[in-house]
Amino acid sequence: MASLNDEIKRRRTFAIISHPDAGKTTLTEKFLLYGGAINLAGTVKGRKATKHAVSDWMEIEKERGISVTSSVLQFNYEGYCINILDTPGHQDFSEDTYRTLMAADSAVMVIDGSKGVEAQTIKLFKVCVMRHIPIFTFVNKMDREARDPFELMSEIEEVLGIHTCPINWPIGCGKSFKGVYDRQTKKITTFTAAMGGQKEVATETFDVEGTDVDSVIGSDFHAQLRDDIELLDGASDEFDQELVSAGKLSPVFFGSALTNFGVETFLEHFLNMTTSPLPRKTTTGVIDPFREDFSAFVFKIQANMNKAHRDRIAFMRICSGKFEAGMEVNHVQGGKKIRLTQPQQLMAESRKIIEEAYAGDIIGVFDPGIFSIGDTLCTSNEKFQFEGIPTFAPEHFARVRQIDTMKRKQFLKGVNQIAQEGAIQIFQEFNTGMEEIIVGVVGVLQFEVLTYRLKNEYNVDVRLEQLPFEYIRWVENPEEVDVAKIQGTSDMKRICDLKGNPLLLFINSWSVGMVEERNPNLKLSEFGKN
Ligand code: GDP
Repeated sequence: MASLNDEIKRRRTFAIISHPDAGKTTLTEKFLLYGGAINLAGTVKGRKATKHAVSDWMEIEKERGISVTSSVLQFNYEGYCINILDTPGHQDFSEDTYRTLMAADSAVMVIDGSKGVEAQTIKLFKVCVMRHIPIFTFVNKMDREARDPFELMSEIEEVLGIHTCPINWPIGCGKSFKGVYDRQTKKITTFTAAMGGQKEVATETFDVEGTDVDSVIGSDFHAQLRDDIELLDGASDEFDQELVSAGKLSPVFFGSALTNFGVETFLEHFLNMTTSPLPRKTTTGVIDPFREDFSAFVFKIQANMNKAHRDRIAFMRICSGKFEAGMEVNHVQGGKKIRLTQPQQLMAESRKIIEEAYAGDIIGVFDPGIFSIGDTLCTSNEKFQFEGIPTFAPEHFARVRQIDTMKRKQFLKGVNQIAQEGAIQIFQEFNTGMEEIIVGVVGVLQFEVLTYRLKNEYNVDVRLEQLPFEYIRWVENPEEVDVAKIQGTSDMKRICDLKGNPLLLFINSWSVGMVEERNPNLKLSEFGKN
């Protein structure tokens, strides 16, 4: 039997981020294929077609054909145990998407070669940067007309503020895509389109020196490649593992997920350049993943995966030790010992009950309504919380009222429970209590989810009045400033969260700066503390 050390060492846990349509689903599908987790491509893809993939639990997801929540997929490849955290790619993504990144140790950023860096990539990227996790770039769709690779590199550097280091380099694109040149081995792998997703792509590899490259890719492309290599060797950043690990240098790969070109090489390099789970900071010190004591934190709570039971599943990232089914752990924030029941893990096609899991893995456990985002579970008697699970700033706000005033109690219960899951954040008017409820969400789809769930699960009809605010700031030092006396702007609104912490809402971004200028003692923050 493999030791605890060996099991943890072989784990790699990463998130895939991209703007919708860049090819994240297709790439994930191909990864799974290499892991032998699915036999045919199309399983992951299925969620967009008639077949619903594992991540589509909620009715609303089915209706809209999009994925509201993110899921986790695990597979084995060449001795590694890989956990992929999938993030919803739809524009209406939620806070869940951000939080999923808290559970990852590295990120793969998929970019459409013809489009470059797109809006949603930037948002998700910022969260990765905040955590200093390694970021790998896969420039996809090289079998289509793509932008100049040098231009793409500088766009990534400028827009995202990270250095790049191409590991391979494309030769042509679209109809004249010839293949890629590996800068380290100095070999060219020629492009052969393998539609449908066969595992083996019949590629041929040539040494740049000693082969008649002209006859393989044509003299024009060869000349271009020679120029490109010279320019790259002279001007681009050199590969530096330390900088990659610190999230300061992104290794870049070119390929085509759909035709399965460059995917396996990418996976191999990626596994070499990333590490097994690293120590995580907590409020009382650092937790080493290899220690015997089990510890984990809750990063996502999902309701009603099983409609008949109206249950909730709490997803947790294991940070140290080994998990065993039925094990008793301390729920630090709840101050109680609990038994983790129905532990499950997600495979490409189904959920399965698991017996054991290790640091790096993600498990879902039955939640009787006791967990909150950021909670710690551990076998030791220490009391601590893992760092770096902030509350993200909502970008859309609405005033919510129940239509039938007799249903006030159900309404408050529903709103509170849904907020506890982290799908929405609730606020109240400054100084006036719970009469009016203001809901803040990261993606507008959450408003729809809220209305739907209040009706279906709590039997409460609500009216939503969307508010024009887009920017929210937590007052970091309420003990030093009198919030009622803050010199505001005309578009500023004071609110507070349920714990009574004061916050400010703004319609315009420049107002934030203006208020900071007018109130030099005021400290504002974009992230709330959990
Ligand atoms: P996601 O929204 O990021 O998950 O993107 P998908 O994986 O669903 O891909 C969006 C569309 O682009 C689909 O129609 C894919 O078939 C297509 N696509 C993905 N990768 C490639 C590629 O490498 N080449 C081409 N030509 N199309 C691709």
